[in-house]
Amino acid sequence: MTKKKKIAVLGGGPTAMSAVYWLTSTPELREKYDITVYQMGWRLGGKGASGRGKDGRILEHGLHVLFGFYQNFFFMMRHAYAELGRPKGHPLRTWRQAFHPGRIGVEEEYVQGAWDPWVIPFPGNSGVPGSGGALPTIFQYLSMLFQGMITLLFGWRAGYKMDERLNLRGDAWEEGKDPPLGGKEPWGTMLVFKIGYFVLKCMTWLIWGIRRYVPWVGWGYQAVRRFVWFFLLRLARKSRRAHRFWLDIDTMTTLMRGIVVDGLLLPGGFAKIDDLDFREWLVKHGLHKETLGTTLVRTIYDAAFSYENGDPNRQRVSAGATVRVLLRWVSTYKGAAFFRMQAGMGDTVFTPLYLVLKERGVKFEFFHKVDALHLSDDRKSIASMSMNRQVDLIDPSKEYDPLETVQDLECWPAGPRVEQISDPGKIEGIDLESYYSGQMGTPVTKTMGEDYDEVLFGIPISAVRFVCAELVANEDTPQWADMVDNVKAVQTVAAQLWMDRDLEELGWETPQPLLSLFVEPYNTWADMSQVIKREDWPTDTPVRNIAYFTGAQPGPTDPPDPSDLGFQKEMDANAYTDFIKFLKSESHNPDRDPAIGGLTTLWPGAADPENPKVLDWSRIVDPSGAEGIERVKSQYCHSNCGPSERCTLSLPGTNRHRMKAGETGYDNLVVTGDWTDNNLYLAFMEASFQAGILSARAIADEDFPIIGEWLNH
Ligand SMILES: Cc1cc2nc3c(=O)[nH]c(=O)nc-3n(C[C@H](O)[C@H](O)[C@H](O)COP(=O)(O)OP(=O)(O)OC[C@H]3O[C@@H](n4cnc5c(N)ncnc54)[C@H](O)[C@@H]3O)c2cc1C
Repeated sequence: MTKKKKIAVLGGGPTAMSAVYWLTSTPELREKYDITVYQMGWRLGGKGASGRGKDGRILEHGLHVLFGFYQNFFFMMRHAYAELGRPKGHPLRTWRQAFHPGRIGVEEEYVQGAWDPWVIPFPGNSGVPGSGGALPTIFQYLSMLFQGMITLLFGWRAGYKMDERLNLRGDAWEEGKDPPLGGKEPWGTMLVFKIGYFVLKCMTWLIWGIRRYVPWVGWGYQAVRRFVWFFLLRLARKSRRAHRFWLDIDTMTTLMRGIVVDGLLLPGGFAKIDDLDFREWLVKHGLHKETLGTTLVRTIYDAAFSYENGDPNRQRVSAGATVRVLLRWVSTYKGAAFFRMQAGMGDTVFTPLYLVLKERGVKFEFFHKVDALHLSDDRKSIASMSMNRQVDLIDPSKEYDPLETVQDLECWPAGPRVEQISDPGKIEGIDLESYYSGQMGTPVTKTMGEDYDEVLFGIPISAVRFVCAELVANEDTPQWADMVDNVKAVQTVAAQLWMDRDLEELGWETPQPLLSLFVEPYNTWADMSQVIKREDWPTDTPVRNIAYFTGAQPGPTDPPDPSDLGFQKEMDANAYTDFIKFLKSESHNPDRDPAIGGLTTLWPGAADPENPKVLDWSRIVDPSGAEGIERVKSQYCHSNCGPSERCTLSLPGTNRHRMKAGETGYDNLVVTGDWTDNNLYLAFMEASFQAGILSARAIADEDFPIIGEWLNH
């Protein structure tokens, strides 16, 4: 019997869970590794965590949807649900019950003093994420094209209906058959792809040749483009729809031009434009000034919270990362453009992962906050780690049991399960997930050789300067200081409302939307009413609608030192003040002055009849019976401002400073996180799950598969 290698996993976020999933994916690997996850507080999931509050309310860290191109995410979730083998009658027995196709996207545009929603029914297809390779079949592409044409010709309602006819939706989706996990790319698509790729490559080389030897052809092209633009724009201005259509054609043709001229599809192509902001890059390729403000261009900044310091006037995102992810999103999704969770993210993603990993023998040490990593004398490895055991368990011989049951579903509570904690009074009112709660608990040290052989570091980038201070200061490993100085993150806000009217009564006319580009900072809204049945409301409490809002929050470039105990409170207060403004329709977009608006712009049916700009407070469900604006206090509003909660940014010129999983400069340290060099470079679940696989490879030296890895050059 060989001794198992002890791996200490720091942080239980999506990347770490993905890594641990792969490191324990076979009986042979389980014989090799003895894995312990150290997680501060009481739950897993990190920025994807959710918890159950009063009345079983789902409280999310932030609004999350899952895009249909998340092949590796869905692969793992499908695998986990199958391995879990929940019994018949369980509310979320299968992955199909947990994730439903989302269908309506909405982009808000402020035109001539009014907000104008642009409804997009995303065409679905018959693909199933996690099956086959990264690409849909030719038939699926054609079906999407057909649905797109229907929408273009007959409007969003027709497109929406067509999707319903052609693809499995609702109950039929849940009952659909799953093709086997993984597999090969469809040969027909690959053939077209290869031909297309070859043609594009030839075009790039041809254009490079022309630019070098006959530059006037390029000038001529630009002159013709300007000439055509001048006339067509005037024609298009006669109709609102034609105008928008024309500006979008401008964006798309500019994108195509940039892809070809800059040779983005050639190896290393995307990295070449990493120094440019997405808008800068479009302008470089001739995008017109008027098009810069259109929804198609702005969307990515909102979706990725790409506001430096949370400032709407400083929207910046790497052009390389953006174009790569945009191409992946629009051209490789399966089933639907995005999926909605049918309960909290904790319940649908992290409960199954936790239960499967536990069954595989992984140990979980909750309430362990890592304070510092310490170097060995030769400064080549991590010799020890200081942690803070935030609470003591009543029975220390047992592992903390983190889950509770709500509506027959195993869920994470919104706070620790105090019945297992000795002296719970000590942590009353203290947020165990915040860096600004002050020191508490018992200091503990974990030592190399005794407690671990190797460390997998899965703590977010903004915490690195605090937790890895010795590594950042070590001149032998300058990549750490370099990364901390360059890779940044941003504060975000999250708010949720429970209403006593349904969407139609609130005055919104599409089925469940995912809406973006609205007023700051709550610029994104998703209707999440599908989870009402998963919460635990008394039958006489009339919850008919649940809405989640999110956006970037203004704040410092780096989070302040943890000794600044008032920081979280100050930022929560800002988030709340902005939320009230939003509910009173007093928010405005500093980057699009004088755009002003708020909730009643979206929901006229929820307005106070006396004052139509302000929300009728009695529409808010508040079982405590508070009056007027006080009812908002019963809802959910939170600032994700701390080192652990900020969202990683992909600022121009920074992605080359990200660290590769196994290139930390230390013998026994591997890193994982959406901030590592994971080939996708924007902060989202697929990038996180791929980062996890890359770090599992670095530990195990095994070639764990990444679906679509061949696209990541
Ligand atoms: C508001 C918001 C909305 C988002 N929406 C989407 C979306 O719709 N779709 C999508 O795909 N992605 C979305 N994302 C991005 C996604 O949530 C992240 O990319 C992902 O969670 C990153 O995973 P991670 O493992 O790198 O880090 P995290 O999720 O941050 O996990 C890190 C873990 O480390 C733990 N930790 C931190 N410090 C310590 C310490 N000192 N000791 C012990 N443990 C510690 C944390 O508690 C956490 O469990 C969103 C992010 C935010 C902020």
